[in-house]
Formats: sequence, structure tokens, C-alpha cells
Amino acid sequence: MQELAMQPPRESGALSPPIYSVATIRAKEAFIIDMDGVIYHGNQLLPRVSEFLRWLVKEEKRFVFLTNSSERSPKELSQKMKRLGITVGEDHFYTSALSTAGFLASQKPGGTCFVIGEAGLTQALYAAGFSMNEVDPDFVVVGDTRSFGYEKLVRAIQAVKKGAKLICTNPDISMVGEGGMHPATGALVAPIELVTGKKAYTLGKPNPLMMRQALKMLKARREDTVIIGDRMDTDIIAGIESEITTCLVLSGVTSREELDQFAYQPSIILDGIADILPPPSRPASPVRGGPQTLK
Ligand SMILES: [Mg+2]
Repeated sequence: MQELAMQPPRESGALSPPIYSVATIRAKEAFIIDMDGVIYHGNQLLPRVSEFLRWLVKEEKRFVFLTNSSERSPKELSQKMKRLGITVGEDHFYTSALSTAGFLASQKPGGTCFVIGEAGLTQALYAAGFSMNEVDPDFVVVGDTRSFGYEKLVRAIQAVKKGAKLICTNPDISMVGEGGMHPATGALVAPIELVTGKKAYTLGKPNPLMMRQALKMLKARREDTVIIGDRMDTDIIAGIESEITTCLVLSGVTSREELDQFAYQPSIILDGIADILPPPSRPASPVRGGPQTLK
């Protein structure tokens, strides 16, 4: 509490204003960028995202799109971006499925898995040297899926009872989809945990392993990197726990009013990712009065 008393006055009920300037963010060499709520909402690209990506390329910044979804492969994500009008190579995507596959390869190279998930997850596991086994796998791996059924649930439970380790690609419990709320991976793994009494090990943000893997992929040091995300409980906490500068954008899940619920704050808060862009150069003119904005 004492710490808060030392901070500048509060704005809109939130914690103290950002402690970093946007110029600090702009000067970073490497960018870890969340997707939904930062780049797009579903199938709708957010304003000036194309311009921001052009700026990243022009400035020779290193960047990776990081998503907790394990449903799509980097190739499918690259195709989705292309449909939205943006061309980004598949080597610029890192998913919780890749994080999970990398982790499992370090645990048991060449092991076997029973998977409840989609192609993004099975492809990542095959590529990491795993094979599929429905009878006595080393791991039961649960990821995002739209084909969750009783039969698979029974197989997963019985495999865990026989000794398979229970792994979950990401902790997200729900997501917004067609018609409203849909269950996500965290909700799908819960019945297996409940019946077996075993707690899954969960990859994906906020697990700092995902940040370390992304840094390795970018060949970047954490002090030269910023993570940009729309969720305090995944993106921002993942950055904080990995000692990476954090940038919260208000274009997604978290609103400024909700910031007060958290005992931590991001390094900077922006309305959207395009606010990182340098201001357009224009002839000198008198500066208007009023409070300074972040830009
Ligand atoms: Mg997001």
C-alpha cells in the first residue's frame, strides 16, 4: 500500500500511469505480439495494423506473433493473416502447441501422446518427434478443439489412470465465438482432472516458458524486447514474470477500468498497437494546450 502512496495520482480508478514512454517501446529491437484483441478481432483487422507491420519490417525489427490457441499451425495462421490482407511468413508465429511440443520433447524425446486437439497440435507433436498412441501413451495432451466427445474423454481418463502425464496447451477457460461464449482448453481439461485427481501441467501464457521460447526464436535479449497484449492475466503477467517490458493495448479484453483489479500493472498502456507508430512528420506549428497524451 505504501508503494501506491508514492506513485503519481491515479487516473480513472486505475493504478499509476504508465512508467514507460511510447518512444521506449518504439526503440525496442524485438516485439512479441499477441494476436486476438491486438491485431484482429475474429476476422476483423484492427485499425492501422497493416501500417504498424510495414513499420516493423521497414525498421528491421524482429517480431513474432504469439498465441495461446493451439488449434491452428503457423502455416494456417499465416494463411488467416493473408485472408485479412497481411502477408507474414509462417516463421513469425509461435503457438502454445509449439510450446507444448518443445516442452514434451525436452521431457521425453520420441515419446507417445494421446491428443484431444486439432491439427495445429498434432502437427507440432509429430514435428517434435512424437507418435500417437491411444492405449498407453506417455502423455495425454489437451488443446483447443471443436470435437470434444465422451469417447475421447474416457480414453484420456483411462490413459491418465494408467500413468500418462496430463498436459494442457493453455489455461484459457473460455473464448468468444459464434453465438457468444465457447469453452476453451482450460475447461476441456477440467473433467479429466476431476475424475483422475491429477492436475495438468499447463503451457501457454502466462507460463514464462513460452516467453523464453519466443525470445530464443527471436534471438533477442529480454531487455531489448517488449510484449504487446490485451490481457492482464496472460500477456502482461507473462511479460512481468519473464522481466520483459509490457505494453497493454485497450483494443481487446481488458478495459482501463478493470486495471484496478490487478496487483500489478503494465509498463505502458495504449489504446491500440498503432499508437506505437511514430507521429507523422509535419511542419512545426504551435502546440495546443491541455494535458500531454502518451503519443
Ligand atoms: Mg489477446
